[in-house]
Amino acid sequence: MKKMTMIPLLAGFILGSTLWSGGFTNTTAAATSTTAPASVSTTADKSEKPQTNHLPNIKILATGGTIAGSSAANTDTTGYKAGALGVETLIKAVPEMKNIANVSGEQFANIDSTNMNNDILLKLAKRTNELLARDDVDGVVITHGTDTLEETAYFLDLVVKSDKPVVVVGSMRPATAISADGPFNLYNAVKVAGASSSKGQGVLVLLNDRIGSPRYISKTNTTTVDTFKSVEQGYLGAVVGDQVYYYNKAVRKHTTASVFDISNLTQLPQVDILYEYQNNGRYLYDAAVAAGAKGIVVAGAGNGNLSTASLEGAEAAGKKGVIVARSTRVGSGVVSPSTKDAASNFVSADSLNPQKARILLMLALTQTHDVKQIQSFFNEY
Ligand code: ASP
Repeated sequence: MKKMTMIPLLAGFILGSTLWSGGFTNTTAAATSTTAPASVSTTADKSEKPQTNHLPNIKILATGGTIAGSSAANTDTTGYKAGALGVETLIKAVPEMKNIANVSGEQFANIDSTNMNNDILLKLAKRTNELLARDDVDGVVITHGTDTLEETAYFLDLVVKSDKPVVVVGSMRPATAISADGPFNLYNAVKVAGASSSKGQGVLVLLNDRIGSPRYISKTNTTTVDTFKSVEQGYLGAVVGDQVYYYNKAVRKHTTASVFDISNLTQLPQVDILYEYQNNGRYLYDAAVAAGAKGIVVAGAGNGNLSTASLEGAEAAGKKGVIVARSTRVGSGVVSPSTKDAASNFVSADSLNPQKARILLMLALTQTHDVKQIQSFFNEY
């Protein structure tokens, strides 16, 4: 019985892939592009007539990734092309979504998430806010590559101005693979976005039946489908069968409680990440400052520790007004604040990993350069 249900899904993707190649041009260009197309909506505004049924109206914003990945071989789980299929193909492959929501899609970008950049991120957040402000949208699902999914999701968690659900979803196996995880992840994401219990929970990350907060969840394995883990703080909930279950709340500030407002921003300040390792020198700090960094996140050793050479570079950066956030390379735990931090223009990144500390530091720097205020952001968000 299980095999019987898998075949139509797979066939849907393969058929969809054909439709996509025939119906839309420039797929390859979109897949490798690092900028969001100016106008990419597929079903966008025409499908959003007021619905007369009682199902939630869920908008799917597609950005690419493995969930839209395609390969000639259905056993291929590594050498495929991410961001190859269009949003309509993804939607057609899961017709069961029609039973739980009025779903419409918008092709926002079609990239490997390693090519997500500040420009696309800002546009994505603005588009998400625009959609959430509409009465005919009850929730937004964003399909995204898993490599940098946690960064986009955390950014959205800090700048979305609505308590309507936003669910960021990806997959580890391309759409063309045997036992692809994308279709069920997408179905579950739509289910979570349409659940009244998801309101006010902040932006959510959905993979492998687990619901996580972007503040806590991270990719932890290069290839397995259970890669997204919330090691220290735990998941918020799960989807089991037909039900959405919540057990925890994200207590750090997010969405409507967040002070960060991107509505008038056209760019974000440059924040770079440097990694602590044996025998390192200060030259990478000098290079980051020379390249215009306004902030530096250090993936420090242990409890956010820096070698003597790094410390020299970081202190020199601090003297030039650059904020240095001490995170850690160890993968979990809080970097405890030091009373010496503020004097050097340093902050502790709390339990944020370096890539998420970068997101918060960029937003913090849009508000202030005061090191104490920036530390308080790291304590609260
Ligand atoms: N490289 C892919 C991406 O991040 C990986 C994935 O989606 O799983 O776009």
